[in-house]
Amino acid sequence: MSVGLVTISYIIATILFIKSLGGLSNPESSRQGNYFGIAGMTIAILATVFGPQVSGIGSLLTIVICMAVGGSVGIYAAVKVKMTEMPELVALMHSLVGLAAVLVGYATFIDTNTGFVGAEKTIHEVEIFVGVLIGAVTFSGSLIAFGKLAGKISGKPLLLPARHFLNLALLIGSIVLGKWFLNVEDVQIGLIPLLLMTVLALLFGIHMVMAIGGADMPVVVSMLNSYSGWAAAATGFMLSNDLLIVTGALVGSSGAILSYIMCRAMNRHFLSVIAGGFGTDGGTPAAAGSAEPQGEVQPISAQDTAELLKESHHVIIVPGYGMAVAQAQHTVYEITKFLRDQGIEVRFGIHPVAGRMPGHMNVLLAEAKVPYDIVLEMDEINEDFPETDVVMVIGANDIVNPAAQDDPNSPIAGMPVLEVWKAKTSIVMKRSMASGYAGVDNPLFYKDNNRMLFGDAKKMLDEVLVSLKG
Ligand code: NDP
Repeated sequence: MSVGLVTISYIIATILFIKSLGGLSNPESSRQGNYFGIAGMTIAILATVFGPQVSGIGSLLTIVICMAVGGSVGIYAAVKVKMTEMPELVALMHSLVGLAAVLVGYATFIDTNTGFVGAEKTIHEVEIFVGVLIGAVTFSGSLIAFGKLAGKISGKPLLLPARHFLNLALLIGSIVLGKWFLNVEDVQIGLIPLLLMTVLALLFGIHMVMAIGGADMPVVVSMLNSYSGWAAAATGFMLSNDLLIVTGALVGSSGAILSYIMCRAMNRHFLSVIAGGFGTDGGTPAAAGSAEPQGEVQPISAQDTAELLKESHHVIIVPGYGMAVAQAQHTVYEITKFLRDQGIEVRFGIHPVAGRMPGHMNVLLAEAKVPYDIVLEMDEINEDFPETDVVMVIGANDIVNPAAQDDPNSPIAGMPVLEVWKAKTSIVMKRSMASGYAGVDNPLFYKDNNRMLFGDAKKMLDEVLVSLKG
């Protein structure tokens, strides 16, 4: 394939990627957005593999074998992964982008046949240094995020003494090593500052994500998404691949915008999230026992829940992480359909950080074929709770916690929440009195107009459906 054809293919792929991102911003066009992405990626891969950068049957064979291995692992992971494990898988994927940037950085540095001299050589080395730096931070940070999301590492923030100075020391150390790296002529000696900086960057990634916890995790997920984009862009610079630069920048900037949206949704400043220490006041851990139940609750049965629903005119369903765990979305759809057929208005209230990844609830509800027009954002529905007869909170906790508004000392104080307690009756479905991801108790459970329907969300909703139909 000629250079001209490769360039044209890359431009077409770029346009398709932009259309893909546009499509993914809306549930109704997201399927089409995915198709654009698939088409763009297919063109990009074909143009690269058959382009002038890959010469000889040996290189082609190596690439085909690597693609077969990588592709098989990818297909296996995508088929096997449970919906609840999606966030962990995404974090793991981000770590791979970071690792790729590190490996490409080392490979391009060791390759002395680039022909770069003078300023060009310096620019190339800066690209390598920055690429490896971003890649290593993304790699270790994403692995820690994976551990936190999978519950393998505690979700609590790790607050080392003088942690800000530690970060500053790591940054200064990297700059000093960068200066050394650029002044060295010999490749083997140059590897020393590069390796030392990689170790510092890996430590920085670990420390940065370990210090962020609780309800700030959504920002970490979107931030690492952004980093993975910048790592890919850096790889593009190292390999002089325009498409990789553009694609990386698209992912990097859209991830940054998503982080901003997440911060706004949680009423947090990006910098204070990055500085870490969620759930703490001035660097001291949150008061012990804040997750202990603080009162009496009123349980309700599935049959009584069905009766309440039948008598209502306006119902709002608030899904959360527990709905994903229980895989209750299809029963939720059945109940919605039944109630709507009886002339009862049913709508959904979606909090921006519900679940464990951006858009988690929208994906599940779309999978269950819940109509998009009754799925509303928090800001669109929050004013309607006082006119609502019954709110069903399905496996949600932090996103409906009134302490965010009422208790200035709460670790989640200031985070906007769905004001479900303003409805005539709220029914919270969960298995126990356990706290949510942020680890704080929820005063909603003890309110006079709240009822607790204890049990697995799928099982309880199945019972509610049977009672409704009976
Ligand atoms: P929460 O984690 O606050 O609460 C989920 C609740 O679901 C738990 O209290 C749990 O209680 C219940 N639950 C779990 N399994 C089941 C089940 N099988 N059946 C019924 N209930 C179940 O979730 P929310 O969605 O309310 O809030 C999201 C939280 O996650 C926020 O703190 C957010 O910051 C954080 N987060 C969000 C991310 C995102 O991108 N959206 C990423 C990372 C973190 P019990 O055990 O008693 O059943």
